This record gives sequence, C-alpha cells and structure tokens, in this order.
Amino acid sequence: MQDPIQSTHIPRMNSFRGNVTTKTVQGKNPNSLFTPHHSLLTLPPMPATNETESMRSALRRYFGHDSFRPLQEEIITASLSGDDVFALLPTGGGKSLCYQLPAILEDGLTVVVSPLIALMKDQVDGLEANGIRATYLNSSLNKTEARKRYAKLFAGEYTILYVAPERLMLSGFLDDLKQWNVTRFAVDEAHCISEWGHDFRPEYRQLSNLRRLFPELPFMALTATATERVRDDILAQLQLKNAKTFVASFNRPNLDYCVETKQAVFQQILRYIQSKPFESGIVYCYSRKATETLADKLRQSGVEALPYHAGMTPLKRAENQEAFIRDEIKVICATIAFGMGIDKPNVRYVIHQDLPKNIEGYYQETGRAGRDGLPSDCILFFSPGDVAKQLQFISDKSNPKERDVATTQLRQMVHYAESSECRRKVLMGYFSEDWPHESCSNCDNCRNPKQCFDGTLPAQKFMSCIFRVNQASGFGVGINHIVDVLLGSKNEKVLKWGHDRLSTYNIGQEYRRPEWQAFGRELIRNGYIEQLTEKHSILELTSKGKSALRERSPITLTQPSISKKSTQPRRSSDTGGIDCNEALFATLRTLRKELAAEQGVPPYIVFSDVTLREMARDFPIDADQMSDISGVGMAKLEKYGNVFIEAITEFLDANPDAGIDDLQPSV
Ligand code: ADP
Ligand code: ZN
Repeated sequence: MQDPIQSTHIPRMNSFRGNVTTKTVQGKNPNSLFTPHHSLLTLPPMPATNETESMRSALRRYFGHDSFRPLQEEIITASLSGDDVFALLPTGGGKSLCYQLPAILEDGLTVVVSPLIALMKDQVDGLEANGIRATYLNSSLNKTEARKRYAKLFAGEYTILYVAPERLMLSGFLDDLKQWNVTRFAVDEAHCISEWGHDFRPEYRQLSNLRRLFPELPFMALTATATERVRDDILAQLQLKNAKTFVASFNRPNLDYCVETKQAVFQQILRYIQSKPFESGIVYCYSRKATETLADKLRQSGVEALPYHAGMTPLKRAENQEAFIRDEIKVICATIAFGMGIDKPNVRYVIHQDLPKNIEGYYQETGRAGRDGLPSDCILFFSPGDVAKQLQFISDKSNPKERDVATTQLRQMVHYAESSECRRKVLMGYFSEDWPHESCSNCDNCRNPKQCFDGTLPAQKFMSCIFRVNQASGFGVGINHIVDVLLGSKNEKVLKWGHDRLSTYNIGQEYRRPEWQAFGRELIRNGYIEQLTEKHSILELTSKGKSALRERSPITLTQPSISKKSTQPRRSSDTGGIDCNEALFATLRTLRKELAAEQGVPPYIVFSDVTLREMARDFPIDADQMSDISGVGMAKLEKYGNVFIEAITEFLDANPDAGIDDLQPSV
C-alpha cells in the first residue's frame, strides 16, 4: 500500500477555514482566524524546516489532518524547542493536539494533568484509535488495573499519560514520575489553578511542586478561559519560565448567533429541532424543573430528549450525559450544570430557552456547539419578562455588592439580546477584543439588519417623562413606572404620587408596553439615559440626553420587532457546511454508531462528522483515496478503512448516479 502521507493531492476544504469571516490584526495575515490579539509575540511565518515537515507528516499520519489550526503549529514548535508555553485557545481550537503531537515526536512520556476524570477514558480511547500509546491514572481504576498500568509506565510503554491533579499528592507518585522518563508536562484547563477563575480546583495548587521537581522540563499550560488576572495567576502558580504566550481570538467563526423573540417558546424550539432531525443539540433552561418539563414535552412530540441538572442523582446524570455523547438521544435539556468536560464535537446547536445571567456564561455555553469546526447555531430566546424575573431574583440577594455585580452583568446580557449590532462584535467586545469588520454575515443582525426609524418623537416623550417625574417628585423612578405614566396607567403609585397630573401622562398610546420598554432600554444603551444600579435601577437623563431633549436632536431607534417572528432554519448548517450525499452520510453515520457501540466508545472516537461528510462527498473506494479523507490517519485506515469502503461501494452499486448527481449544481 502506498504511504497515505504521499497522496494528498485532492483539494479539500479545511472546515475551520471555510465559510469564515476573518479577523485582521494590524493588517497582518487576514486568513488567520486565531491571530493573537495581544501582540505579545510577533510570529514570523514558519520556515519549511525538517521539523515542520515531520510535524506535518505526523499530523497526517496519526490524526489524518492536512493542516494545523491557527497557532497550533507555533505552539507545538515552541514546546518542541524546550520553551514553556501558555496557550489560550477557544473551545474547539484544538488544544489537545498541541501537546499530543510533541509527545509523538519525542521519545519519553508526556504527562497531561486534567481535572476532567470523566473525559480521560474517551481521550485515551481516541488516542489509541489513532495508534498512539496512551493511558490514564485516576480514582476510577481498580487496584489490579492501576498496577498493570504502573508496570507499563515503568517499562516505558506509553507516550502520553493523563492524570488527575489529586494523583500528584499521593505518596510516592512524584518519585515514580522521576523514573518514567518524562519529557514534558501539559496542564490542561489551566484556569483551574486560579482562585480568580470560574472553576478553581484547590488540588491544582499542587502543581507548583511539579515545576520545583522538574526544573528542566518544558511545561505547557492550556485553557479556553482566562481573563488577564487568571492568566497572570497561571504563569505565577506554575512558575512558568519566560513562557511563550499564545492568545487566539475568541471569535468562533463557525458559530451562527441569533436572538429570537420568545413567544410560544416550546413551539419555537420544537420547530427548530424538527428542522434538524439528525443533529444533536443542547437546550439550556433556567431551572431544573424547566429542563424536565421541556424534555418530557419534546419526547411527547417524538424528539429523543433527556434532562440534565444538579438535582438528579449522579448516576442518572451520568447516564443521560452518556446517552447524549453516544448519539443515543438527540437533545439534552440542561441547566448550566451541564457542559464542563463535554467533548462531543458534533453539537450542532445550542439553544437558550431563557436568558443567561451573564455574557461570560453565554459564551462558554454556546462554545459547546461546533467544536469540530462545522457550522452550528446558537439561538437565544429573549423576552423582557425574563429580565423582570431575573431582576426579582437579584433583588432577593442580601449582599449589596453581589446585587450590583449581578445587575450589571444582566444588563450587559440584555444589551447583547437587544442590540442591533453584530452579535459577534458585542460578544468579542466583552472580552476586550475588537471586531474590525462591518458585517460578519454569520449572525441574525448582519444577515437581516434591524429596521431603524426616526424615533425622535417617542424618544422625546420618554425622556421628557423622566424629566417631569423628577421635577415634580424630586426623586427618580424605574423604567416601568415611566412606561406606566406614558400609557396612562391608574396604578397605585401613579395616583399616589400625582403622576396622572403630569403633562406626559397618557401621551404614549401609539405603542404598547413592551415597545416602550424596548425604547427605554435602547436609550439607555445609547447613552441618553443612565440607569443607577445602587438606587433600585432608577432612571436619570445623562447630559447627552438633556441636550438632545433641549435641542430636539434627531434620534434613531430600532423598529420594534415584538410581533415579528421567525424560527426558520437559516443557512448551510443543514449541510454541515460540506455538501455531500445526505443519504450516504446517513448510512455512514449508522455504521459509525454500530461500530462505536461494539467497542463501547462514543461515535466521534470512530470518525468525526467532518470525516463522514467528506467520505459522502468524495466517495473513497480504495485505501489510497480513503487515506486522503481528513481524519483518516494510519491506524484508523487499518481499523475501519475496509468497512467504510465496503459501505460506500455498496451504496454506489445501489445508487449508480449518486456520485454524479449530487456533486453537480442543480439546474
Ligand atoms: P479544545 O480542547 O481546544 O476545545 P479539541 O482538542 O477537543 O479542542 O479539538 C476539537 C476538535 O478539533 C477535535 O474534534 C479535533 O479532532 C479537531 N482538530 C484539532 N486539530 C485539528 C486540525 N489541525 N485539523 C482538523 N481538525 C482538528
Ligand atoms: Zn454579525
């Protein structure tokens, strides 16, 4: 058989670079999505050395990939040259490969510290499926099994070892490590070391001992979440020496962001899910109860769905999670307890049925979609009622500082939901990253820019109502009270305070309550009005607002979209971004599921969706062609090549025109 590495002549799309809007940093390298945005490092183009050659051929041989994702190559090169490395890549950026490839290219053992015990088995299964000798040690192993693995470690039989941080504290473990010819340490989820992070693990503090004991070895710290403060903490705690820092953009180009007005939310969700009958997705809900109700209703409508929340028994939780990962169910309805450590690459949509509490959480949760780089949807259902509900919860908090933080975070979230700007721009702005493009063409606001109108009149009404109330009463009120006055409400407060006698009373009949509320929030976002957190969210005109009121300056507002609705499938995520023969794709998917079940591994360990779609597009019918498919490395070619070739051949026999028709544009 020809060496598969030799034959890579068929042009192939790199899914991560396909359908992408690029981020340009200082005019450099417009094709790189993950350009470092903190110019900590200016990276020269990789020279074509022997090292790059061997990196690329190992990438092809073991993982079946043709090209590196942004920053992977630079990170790997730095680690191979003995530098300490700190890598901040978004979810799906391909962090694992950054330590797996150096491990393969060097003799000795790479030790990976990871807090995600539940994932270790899958990771090791994945490596073994690619022909890489890997193992893990954690509390889930019985004594006999652990002993067997120790023996092999002493015999130098592994390339990669995954350990949980608590293992490092076990007596004798660090001494054992000394005898295992360790060549590199990789600390995954490195933010866990920091108290300032969202997921602090005290056991991670032990890691500073490692550096003391192995001063000469290169360390790698990898994470998808780190603010400036957490980053400094990681560098300090791990005592990284002159670490080369690589920070990728937080942009996830394959994710499509969209906000829908929440109306009959179950119907909206059901319609969407039914439009993607073969895809998996997560629906996040605010409460435990809601996850169960939604899962029940979905099942009654014929969708395979299960709930997941922290109130379930650990066993039930693990079962439902497992069923989702193994493609036995399509949809998991979950609280935010779900997700950390979910490695499923083919989550095609993440829906938020209720408003998340803050943008950081929203970014993390939506980040679980599309790790494989294929187009995936992030849909948020928004209603002002959710805001009121959450404000109520917040006002129940006893600590005033906490209340303020929560209110500010909620306001940023509402801003995201109501903004008519590019969703990407808002999200990335939250992480202090600039999005320099006019349109991303991959969010609802860029696809269908919101209609604006000359809102000078309603803006004037709203602002003068604030002014009048303040003037008459000497105190400020919240947004709802202003709307009450505009709509001529006769509620107790309006009457008690005599606001029914103001000139602005009952002058707003042309709009409904939610519309006035939306105008109010837009005027806040645009700096005409200020909302004071510490004083029960009362409204005050800013100097910009006062002068606009005085000078009658024109103000543009967003056309209310309260009554508009659309939950239509949007774009090419139906084809996963790779046009292929859908019938063959379905056949191959079934085959994958059977093989995975036989071997007791999740389907994606066998092949990813990207790989199956490429097969259903390119119809490989011999080993040579098969090895050209992305994700088919040597080991998988040997193990599964024939089975899949057979399935494809059979399919072509039964559908002789398939290959021709499907790949031609329809006329
Ligand atoms: P992260 O840990 O950064 O979220 P992973 O390491 O789990 O990301 O990788 C996400 C997905 O991307 C996996 O399915 C992996 O196989 C795939 N992947 C990683 N590197 C590449 C590459 N260079 N080319 C194609 N696919 C890749
Ligand atoms: Zn956009």
